[in-house]
Amino acid sequence: MSSISGVGVSTGRAAGPLVRVAEPLPEPPSTPAPVSPEAESGLIRPAAEDVAGRLSARAAEVEGDAKAVLETTAAMAVDPALISQAEQLVTTRSLPAPRAVQEAANGFADALREAGGYLAERVRDVHDVRDRIIASLIGVDAPGVPGLDRPAVLLARDLAPADTADLDPALVLALVTEEGGPTSHTAILARSLGIPAVVAARGVLAADSAVGAVVDGDAGTVDLSDQPVPVEAVDRVAGEEWDGTAATADGHAVKVLANVGSVTDAQGAVEAGAQGVGLFRTEFCYLAAAEEPDVSTQRRAYAEVLTPFAGQPVVVRTLDAGADKPLSFLEPGTEPNPALGVRGLRVSFEQPGVLDRQLEAIAAAAADSGAEVSVMAPMVATAAEARWFAERARAAGVDRAGVMIEVPAAALSAPEILEAVDFVSIGTNDLAQYVFAADRMLGALAELNDPWQPALLRLIDAVGRAGRDLDKSVGVCGEAAADPLLARVLVGLGVGSLSMVAAAVPAVGSALAGHPLSTYRRAAEAALAAAGPVDARRAARAVLE
Ligand code: PEP
Ligand code: MG
Repeated sequence: MSSISGVGVSTGRAAGPLVRVAEPLPEPPSTPAPVSPEAESGLIRPAAEDVAGRLSARAAEVEGDAKAVLETTAAMAVDPALISQAEQLVTTRSLPAPRAVQEAANGFADALREAGGYLAERVRDVHDVRDRIIASLIGVDAPGVPGLDRPAVLLARDLAPADTADLDPALVLALVTEEGGPTSHTAILARSLGIPAVVAARGVLAADSAVGAVVDGDAGTVDLSDQPVPVEAVDRVAGEEWDGTAATADGHAVKVLANVGSVTDAQGAVEAGAQGVGLFRTEFCYLAAAEEPDVSTQRRAYAEVLTPFAGQPVVVRTLDAGADKPLSFLEPGTEPNPALGVRGLRVSFEQPGVLDRQLEAIAAAAADSGAEVSVMAPMVATAAEARWFAERARAAGVDRAGVMIEVPAAALSAPEILEAVDFVSIGTNDLAQYVFAADRMLGALAELNDPWQPALLRLIDAVGRAGRDLDKSVGVCGEAAADPLLARVLVGLGVGSLSMVAAAVPAVGSALAGHPLSTYRRAAEAALAAAGPVDARRAARAVLE
C-alpha cells in the first residue's frame, strides 16, 4: 500500500477496484503521408466495426436507456457516410487514417451544430464515436469514463460535466482526481451522489501498478494497493427521500436554495425541490456577448430564469465580471492581478450606467415573473460600497438589496455592512481564495481553499454573529453550502439560507432534520476550535454522526 494525501471534498470512506478515466486524445497529426493511401484507408472500416462491436456487446448486457444509448452509438460508429468520407480524405489528401477520421467526424459535427435543436444535441455523440475510432486506430484506451460493469473507485486527472453525464452512480464507490479543487465539478458531483471524494491527490496518476484503493473523504487520503481491494461502499445520504421540509429537528427553518445561471439550471432547481434561488449568476447569460445587451434583452433573459420561481425568493446577483469570468464588453484592460483588480461591483464605480441598466431590467423582469426578487452585489469590500449599491438598487425599484461577503474586509465589517443593506450572502469560494491569498483555480493550492479551514469558518462565524445581533439574514452561496456535513455547521454558525448547485439540494435539505439547532451549534464550536481542515471536519462529524 502507498498513501497519497489530497483534499477530501466529500465525506465518507469507501474501497474497491480502481478504474482509470483515460486521458483526452492528442490531436492526430496530418503527417506523415501514408506510404500506401489505399492500405491506410482500409484500416478505417475495421476500426469502426471494432468500436461498434464493443459497444453492442455492452448494450447486450444492460437494459433501458443505457441499452438504447449504447445501441445508437454503435450504429453511429459504422455510419456509412462517416466511414466513406474518412476513407476519401485518406486517398485524396494523403492524410493518416486517424486524422482523416477526425476531420470527417468534425465536418459532421459542425453540420449538426448548425442544424440546431435536437440534432445539435448529437454533436457530443459524434465526438464520442470519433474519439473511440481514433483510439482504436492508434491502439490506446478510448478517452472518458469507461462503461462500468462492477463497483469501482474512479481515478481521473479531473472530471468535466460531460465526462460524467452517463455515469452509473450505483457503481461508483468513490472519486479521486489528481487535479481539481474544492469547487471543481468532481467535488460537486461526489456530494450530490453521496460518495467519498478526494481531489488534488497529486501523484496518484503515476501509480501505474495500483489496482485497488481505499478512499477517505474526511482525511483526504487515498491508499493505493497493487493487490485487489475488497469492495466497501458508504451508506449514501438518502437525498431522494427529502420531503421538501427544510428545518432542523427542533423546527428552526433554514432556506434551501439553488445557484443558477441559465433557464436549464432554473428548471433543474425546481425539479430538485429548491425553495428558490440564492444566487442567480447573471454574468453567465453574457459570457459570449460582444456588447452590453440592451435593457429589453436583459429583461427577457432574466424573466425566463425567474418565471419558474413565481411566488418564491430569488436573489439576482448583478454582473460579476472579471478574473475567471471575463465579459468582453466590460474589459478592464490589462491588469497584473485580475483577481485583485477591477472586478465585480468595482466595475460599476467606473461605469455606473451598466449597473443602472441592469437594475432596471431586473426590476422589470421581477414584475413580469412574479418572483420575489432581491438583488445583491459581488466583490464588495466596505460598508460605503454596500450603501452605494443599496441606494442605486432601491432607486431602480428593487426593494430588497444585499451584498456578497467575499472579501475578508467585508467579513470583518459585517455589522457596518448589515446596517446598510437588507441581507448578506457569503461567497465561500472567493472568501477562501482571498483570506488565504490562494487562487481558487489552482489545484496546487486546493488545500488552502478547503472550506473546512478554521480561519474561513471563523470569518463566517463573525458574519453570523453580526446577522443575529442585527436580526438580518446571513446566507451562504459558495460551494461550502453543498456539503451536507458543512451545511449543518454553517447553520450552527448562524447561517439562515444555504444556496448550492441543484444536484446537492435534496441531500442538504434532508440532512438538516437530523439534529436540533443546539447540536449544530456544538458542531460549529468544535470545528472553529480545530487546528486544520481535516480536524475540523472530524470534530464536526464526531458531534453529528
Ligand atoms: C463565491 O465566490 O463563493 C460565489 C458564490 O461566487 P462565484 O463562485 O460566482 O465567484
Ligand atoms: Mg465569487
